[in-house]
Amino acid sequence: MSAPKIKAPRGTFDVLGQDAARRTTLEARARAILEAAGYERIETPVFEATELFARGVGESTDIVRKEMFTLEDQAGRSLTLRPEGTAPVCRAYVEHGMHKRRQPVKLWYLSSFFRHERAQAGRYRQFWQVGAEALGSEDPALDAELITLLTRLLADLGVRGLRLRLASLGSLDSRREYRERLQAHLRANEADLAQEVRERIELNPLRAFDSDHPGTRQVMESAPRLSEHLDAQDAAHFAEVRELLDAAGVAYELDHTLVRGLDYYTRTVFEFTSDALGAQSGVGGGGRYDGLVQQLGGPPTPGIGWAAGIERILLAGEQEGEQGHGVPVASVPLELFLALEDASPTLRTRAFHLLCEARAAGLAAQMDLGGRSLKGQLSHANALGARYVAILGEQETMLKDMQAGDQESLASDAVVHAVLRGHTAL
Ligand code: AMP
Repeated sequence: MSAPKIKAPRGTFDVLGQDAARRTTLEARARAILEAAGYERIETPVFEATELFARGVGESTDIVRKEMFTLEDQAGRSLTLRPEGTAPVCRAYVEHGMHKRRQPVKLWYLSSFFRHERAQAGRYRQFWQVGAEALGSEDPALDAELITLLTRLLADLGVRGLRLRLASLGSLDSRREYRERLQAHLRANEADLAQEVRERIELNPLRAFDSDHPGTRQVMESAPRLSEHLDAQDAAHFAEVRELLDAAGVAYELDHTLVRGLDYYTRTVFEFTSDALGAQSGVGGGGRYDGLVQQLGGPPTPGIGWAAGIERILLAGEQEGEQGHGVPVASVPLELFLALEDASPTLRTRAFHLLCEARAAGLAAQMDLGGRSLKGQLSHANALGARYVAILGEQETMLKDMQAGDQESLASDAVVHAVLRGHTAL
């Protein structure tokens, strides 16, 4: 009787084959674009103290209210699988005293995140994001830089039907007065609001703009607009961000209903969607979070960042075989395949030694590991697209040039050199 099969948990998936190759390409493009702009790679732990997200992301958010994978360790401490990347980066900034470094500190990541959401196409419980964060400057040029970098990355990866929406939420101070006005409007129309929105009038009234409940949408049409209540400094900051984006030729739409789902945002917020995606059309987004570092116990430090979903980028990107701006899928061409005339242990040892030597010399090399006959090995080498095949025998070694179709007999310790020479001759 065979044992029952075990499946991957709901909302998770395996990364295989072509999908893995496309992710490798994506990561290489992200690294090239972000590191050229001065962003340094950061990796934070997969789990953090639950408190980090409760305080950082905010008690009123969907993430903290219902989407966290939280566990208790043996000592009774509450830990949570990271649902997003900004709070951990800010924690690391404080923990490593990065405010003492030259500001802004610019960081990027490509990591997996975890949210207990209803799984569907484009929405998973473990998903990957590429993200960039810049801490320690409130210069509007930093907002424009980050938005421009994400625009470039998405275009470079061939994401189709892109739209960028932009808004300013104002600073925490200027928002306070607006919040009260909005709360008054919501209370006056409470009967028409969705239950969820009603529950958040005190905690986070702005989220009402996010609701797709028909009654709530109607109420929001006559709601006071934050854009009309920005103070002079916030309005000037936002005007400069827009001017810089115009100068960079980045197209955007102003959307004063854009609030984003996280509590920490201030001033500039933005979101990219793709018409090539279905219901889950968000590709990436972000904004300023000028109060977050301080809220996490650090010195007052402005910050801004974005995150984009890898699965959504791939879904909305050019499909296999289509012509894109992107680099072709990464795969390493096989330069040398070592085939064995027979299965004798001494021959295998010699072949293995040669394999290590070839790899140490920088060649992409493989040998037969499937117990195949010589004929089987040659057809395997062919299927792998090997440029050269060395056939090792007790008496002699034959090196075949699979492209030119010729072959020569040589000492086995001359194989690596011959392949390298063949390459430089190409
Ligand atoms: P957020 O951190 O919620 O602002 O999300 C940023 C981006 O991450 C979104 O635009 C999506 O592309 C992606 N994303 C967020 N949640 C998920 C999820 N559950 N599954 C797949 N991608 C997601």
